[in-house]
Amino acid sequence: MKEEVLVFGGGISGLATAWNLHKAGIPFKLIEKQTETGGVISSEIVQNTVLDFGPNSLRDRDGSIRKLAEEVGLKDEIIQISEAFKTRFIVRNRKLQALTPSPKTLFTSKVISGKGKLRALAEPFISKGTSNDESVGAFLERRIGKEAVAYLVDPVFSGIYAGDIYQISKKEILPQFAENEQKFGSLMMGALRTKKKKSEIKPMVLSFKKGIQQLPEAISGKLSDQILNEEVTGVRKKGNGFEVETSEGKYEAAKVISCLPAHSLSSVLRGFDPLLSETLRSIDYAPMLSTQVVFNKDDIELPQSGFGFLIPRKENIRLLGAIWKSSIFPELSSSTSSHFTLMIGGAHDREILMDDIQQIEQQILGEFTELMNTSAKPEVVKSKLWRKAIPQFHVGYESDRQKMDEAEEANPGFYIGGNYRWGVSVPDCVKAAEKLVQKLS
Ligand SMILES: Cc1cc2nc3c(=O)[nH]c(=O)nc-3n(C[C@H](O)[C@H](O)[C@H](O)COP(=O)(O)OP(=O)(O)OC[C@H]3O[C@@H](n4cnc5c(N)ncnc54)[C@H](O)[C@@H]3O)c2cc1C
Repeated sequence: MKEEVLVFGGGISGLATAWNLHKAGIPFKLIEKQTETGGVISSEIVQNTVLDFGPNSLRDRDGSIRKLAEEVGLKDEIIQISEAFKTRFIVRNRKLQALTPSPKTLFTSKVISGKGKLRALAEPFISKGTSNDESVGAFLERRIGKEAVAYLVDPVFSGIYAGDIYQISKKEILPQFAENEQKFGSLMMGALRTKKKKSEIKPMVLSFKKGIQQLPEAISGKLSDQILNEEVTGVRKKGNGFEVETSEGKYEAAKVISCLPAHSLSSVLRGFDPLLSETLRSIDYAPMLSTQVVFNKDDIELPQSGFGFLIPRKENIRLLGAIWKSSIFPELSSSTSSHFTLMIGGAHDREILMDDIQQIEQQILGEFTELMNTSAKPEVVKSKLWRKAIPQFHVGYESDRQKMDEAEEANPGFYIGGNYRWGVSVPDCVKAAEKLVQKLS
């Protein structure tokens, strides 16, 4: 069978790519090895509470998620995050310390000491450093000092990106900050002098009434005739196009778009482009364990409503953080329960791949209940281990990116998408898919 385009992978990157091909009227087939699409997006309803084991909320800055959701019939299923999300907590000395959105919080919060605050505020007077790539940790220690990095930057990067700030690249993760240092000599001056582009669309943090998985389900529901449940095993050039080998047979296509994780594409490309295959294999992924816990509402009290808390690695607590799911999306929990998402693992704790999951659950539940000041036992505990959860953009990632560009140039009709190419958030993947199809068509 000859296709115009074959898309590999039915995570959100592949599905959003397929949806854009469908809208552009370009014939295609999408190949996904699992029976369910969505990749790491995974929601389940237990005792009337929606458990999201992958992404828990989508930060839709420019409306791309809302547009896609509307196109696939989910307009009335969107739910907006509550105002509670603006208050976040950081653990210091085993106590939750609030950070509110007000700039005053920098002075009043107990997250960093007076000395640490003075050092951070001296940032405009610190001389400009190198423009070469360096780690986010080294870069920000130079600018705002060790304490602010340990208690503000590290928990965000460990909890959200599952990363190690002393390995991830400033140029990849904080390109605007890196540019502002070179241009204005200071991040604070840069923030004051760079005019924010005003968007006509109001940013929104959102989810869906039955969890984030509703989005990939709705897309694949519209494209079911174009989805093949097979595993891509190899690719080679044939004539002006490509021959693709799968677990079930062979297909020919004029163009192929990979939206597979880097390690999967690496295996597929072994015979086709050994050099790129090697580069892709070397891209590090951090593991994550997502543990969902549901308590009886009367058994657990929040200090105040908020997004949840993050834990600096300096605190020597295994848990990375907790999202207070029923505080930010009350619609997703039953009226009698309080639901939390606990995150464990990341680049600092690869032992989660070896340890017994039930033992980890016991350990982190102990840590969580101590921090939440309760001795209550949860009614539901359910975990999902993502062995290769989130790609890590290490220092020097620029050269990997360049090799991907070169491979695309050397093989017209071959495109690489997916979260390790343009950004890991679901909105990043959706926007990248739109651009990729524009480039192709
Ligand atoms: C625990 C966790 C929490 C997160 N939280 C958030 C959040 O709150 N907000 C946010 O915006 N983002 C979050 N993210 C990031 C975001 O969810 C992911 O980056 C994004 O969903 C990745 O989509 P993808 O399609 O690029 O990759 P994937 O979801 O990995 O999809 C790849 C697909 O390819 C398929 N595949 C693999 N090999 C083959 C093969 N050989 N043949 C055919 N198919 C194959 C897989 O089965 C899979 O379906 C989180 C991620 C994780 C893991």
